[in-house]
Amino acid sequence: MNIQQELLATLKDYPDFPKPGIIFKDICPLLAQPALFKRVLRHLAEHAADCSATHIVGLESRGFLFAMPLAAELGLPFIPARKSGKLPGEVLKQSYTLEYGIDHVEIQKSALAAGARYLVVDDVIATGGTAGAVARLIQSNGGTIAGFSFVIELSFLPGRKALQEQAPTAGVYSLLTL
Ligand code: AMP
Repeated sequence: MNIQQELLATLKDYPDFPKPGIIFKDICPLLAQPALFKRVLRHLAEHAADCSATHIVGLESRGFLFAMPLAAELGLPFIPARKSGKLPGEVLKQSYTLEYGIDHVEIQKSALAAGARYLVVDDVIATGGTAGAVARLIQSNGGTIAGFSFVIELSFLPGRKALQEQAPTAGVYSLLTL
């Protein structure tokens, strides 16, 4: 089985979670299979190398599960992008619109470095709102987005297009497109 077939056989769907109309893609069964998880990391690492990333940015919270081991594997700094009020010290903040209301993401200012190329990593790309907001935050502080990496892409939503508009030179990589 190729990795896409293995992921399809492993990931579990939860209809109407956390609210009606959403089919939640649960990555927990993947986390419970270390051999498959390592193969996923290898694919993400190849993309990170292809786009010459120098820093790995993980999106709270499931993005951390992939971004942190990826960064350690590649020997690159890991940067957590968190919801408001979680990070100490001087933070850079970006708001973005949700279906209902507004949310915010933050990164510690001290985590950003001149000349860095940031790879933004999450488990799932849906609308691209969260990853796009993190990219906007980094770009508005002079940083370059090297790329975006996801394990699962929900291609019936316009996430890829939104990220390509936000960072036209950054590649959008997803291991499994649904
Ligand atoms: P996005 O709309 O791309 O900003 O997605 C928001 C966040 O929710 C991302 O961090 C995704 O990991 C998560 N997410 C969105 N839709 C799903 C889904 N159907 N299943 C699992 N996680 C999701």
